Amino acid sequence: MRLKNIPRARDVIAASRWAVDEPEKMKGRWAEEFGEPADAPVHLEIGTGKGRFILELSKEHPDINYIGLEKYSSVLLRGVEIQDELMLKNLRFIRGDAELITEYFLPGSIDRIYLNFSDPWPKERHAKRRLPSRQFLARYDTILSPGGTIEFKTDNRDLFDFAVEEVPGSAFEIAQLTYDLHADPVMNEGNIMTEYEEKFSALGNKICKYILVRR
Ligand code: SAM
Repeated sequence: MRLKNIPRARDVIAASRWAVDEPEKMKGRWAEEFGEPADAPVHLEIGTGKGRFILELSKEHPDINYIGLEKYSSVLLRGVEIQDELMLKNLRFIRGDAELITEYFLPGSIDRIYLNFSDPWPKERHAKRRLPSRQFLARYDTILSPGGTIEFKTDNRDLFDFAVEEVPGSAFEIAQLTYDLHADPVMNEGNIMTEYEEKFSALGNKICKYILVRR
């Protein structure tokens, strides 16, 4: 992915009440950060981009706490600027790396993980960087609660086939799966389109999705 560097992004994120720049310091402190009720579910989107999907979810479900994690400040900037205006109490953004999520969250503290249009990393030697890889599924197993779920969608059929093949070696099983989300009335109910989803479905690409639960 080509990335335009936006010099002010780091400063805007560092100054925002709603963004976390040093997520290691937040481990075990998320309930305190969100406030009452302390037992509200926490849903995490990994690779949130400009945060459009998680902003919509946060508006629709004020009873759920949401965290959007994004590696690059210049990408995350737009979402943080919008949240600086909306000030949704149940939403925080993290500028951080998914490889370190077990440093950011206590075991069992996340109730749902969303992976939306994750980078495909097409070279075989980079397979372990793919967010639905077995290496990442093991990290998700650590931070997810006993009833925790993972929802993954993409228009990239090769990445989706890889993701499906990674499941049997993990702590999870497939509860629901579709190769054409927008034509599936059950799985598409309440679907919120991400930025990439809108772009690629407008080109005629079908959207694949699975939902994983623990075995
Ligand atoms: N989820 C958004 C959507 O569907 O519109 C953005 C999709 S974009 C293709 C993938 C995003 O994941 C990029 O913004 C990228 O920087 C982010 N990303 C990739 N690897 C990551 C990692 N290890 N940790 C955090 N974010 C990551």
